[in-house]
Order: sequence, then structure tokens, then C-alpha cells
Amino acid sequence: MKQSPPVSRPFGPPIVIAHRGASGYLPEHTFAAKAYAHALGADFLEQDVVLTRDDVPVVFHDLVLEEVTNVAAVFPDRRRADGHWYLVDLDFAELSQLAVNDRVNPANGESTYPGRFGEHLPLRIRSLAEELAFIRGLNRGTGRHAGIYTEVKSPAWHRAEGKDLSPIVLRTLADFGYSTADDNVWLQCFDAAELMRIKGELGCQLRLVQLIGENDWLESPTDYDLLRTPAGLASVAAYASGIGPWIPQVVQWPAPGAEPVCSSLVRDAHAVGLAVHPYTLRLDQLPENAGSAAAAHQALFELADVDGLFTDFPDATLAALGRRR
Ligand code: CA
Repeated sequence: MKQSPPVSRPFGPPIVIAHRGASGYLPEHTFAAKAYAHALGADFLEQDVVLTRDDVPVVFHDLVLEEVTNVAAVFPDRRRADGHWYLVDLDFAELSQLAVNDRVNPANGESTYPGRFGEHLPLRIRSLAEELAFIRGLNRGTGRHAGIYTEVKSPAWHRAEGKDLSPIVLRTLADFGYSTADDNVWLQCFDAAELMRIKGELGCQLRLVQLIGENDWLESPTDYDLLRTPAGLASVAAYASGIGPWIPQVVQWPAPGAEPVCSSLVRDAHAVGLAVHPYTLRLDQLPENAGSAAAAHQALFELADVDGLFTDFPDATLAALGRRR
């Protein structure tokens, strides 16, 4: 793929964000997935953060444990009446006994992404502090400084459980030297009110990213239809440096073999100075009708002009940018 033209970009050349690590190759958010993403050359390694019962921030995507761990076998009696095992119901020492596996449907054990790693091994859930120390060590040992891209998960849900996640995340990041806009970190959240609080009340100086979903996902109280308008994006630019939309909000393929069609979202975001980092590129679950990973990467980087991409396969995305053979 040819290099992007030398247009002025508020945040430099596109960045490659390893989504939950190199999760296309190894179980998400394990040290193995993070080490491999670092070795493949990803610019940023993602952390989703959830709180344990004893208030330890851990790197884990879901609020529930059963899709990517063996919790049902290890703690069969810790299930709530709604049928789920919630991470917030276990202490960190208990979570450390669980093995992390590739994502499955807990009802039938079927892999969400057949063909991925698929082995059941004692890969562990890690605290945010452990993960940041791990990345610090990888950076030191290799001399290649990968950044971090940390998400405050479901702050309103945590608050309903009596927990305040954001200050704990910010304190942990600061402990590892991530505290200013010049540090190699982006902090992301779906909840606009929480991001405004992080910027205002909590005085956070880090670059913030407003994640954008669809309202019917019920991901947060935020109105994403409103945020995606020019006026909404202008309001986001008052507290954030970027947005993280879902790929179909940026570009879609109307039918198999059809040319990709871009929305105005990237252009509108750039007009108010916001970087755009869509999620998530998966080789084994391409955007609908995209046809190939090459076509998807080309549409995102050349046609839509995004500033970065969350990818389960950092090597493929780096290759599409001409940064890896
Ligand atoms: Ca995330």
C-alpha cells in the first residue's frame, strides 16, 4: 500500500493500537498477548480496566468472567442469580487463580474466533500495575518504547456497585510516570460525562479519547448520535484529543464487491482538531462486505484518513502502512 500523502495531521502518522494485545494470536489481555504485540511493533498496547472486590484495578475487558476464563469450574458458587460471574465479586487473589482463554460462548464452549490460539493454559489476569511494569520492562529491554492506551470500563456500572474506578486508574498511571499530555499514553472511555469529570474534577492532563458506540448497545448513558454531529464533535473537542468510533461509523461497503463509502465523521472530527482511532480490525471478522484486509486497511487509512486503528492483528496493520514486511 502506498504511503499517505503528506497532509497535515494533528497527531502525526497513523498509530497502530494492539487491541487487548495481539489478541488475534493469543488470549486477550494476557502478558503473552502484550509481549507478542510489543515484539510485532505495535505503537500502543491497550488496557481495559475493571475493579476487583478489593479495589485492585485489573486488565480485563468484560464485567463478567465466564467468556474468557475458567471461573465456572474454579468458583462454581460465585455466580449471581442472573447467571453471570462478575469480576467485581472476586478479590484479586481469587482472580489470580483463574486461567484466561480465548473468547468462547459459555453456553456451549464454542470459540468466538475459531482458528485462534485455542489452548487452555495457566495464563493469568493481571493488575494494571503488573501490566504497566511488564510494559516498562519490555520497553527497557528492547529499547523500543511502546505506549499504552488505557480504557476506564463502564464507570457508571462501577459506581452502581459502590466503586469509583477513574481516580484509581489515574493514580496507577501516575505511579508509572503517565501523567501529562506529553507522555506516551491515551486514556479512553465510552462515557462522556466521566471523561468530562476526568478532565475537570480529577484534573487529568493525559490525552483523552471519547469512544463512540451505537445508542442501542446501552454501553453508557452517552448519546452517541448527538456526539457524531459536528456540534457534538465540537463539544468533545473541549475535553478530548480524539475519538474512537466503530469502523462502520467511518466507512461501509454497501454490498460485496462495492466501493467503500465514507461517512463525514473523520472530516468533521479533524475540522475540530480531534484525532480518529476506529475499532476494531480483525482478519478473521472483517468489516461487512470489505472483501479483504487489504481493502479494509486501504479504505481506513487512504480514503477515510484515520489517525490510528485498533487491531487484533498489529503485524497486518503495520504491513498495510508499509512499516513491516
Ligand atoms: Ca477497550
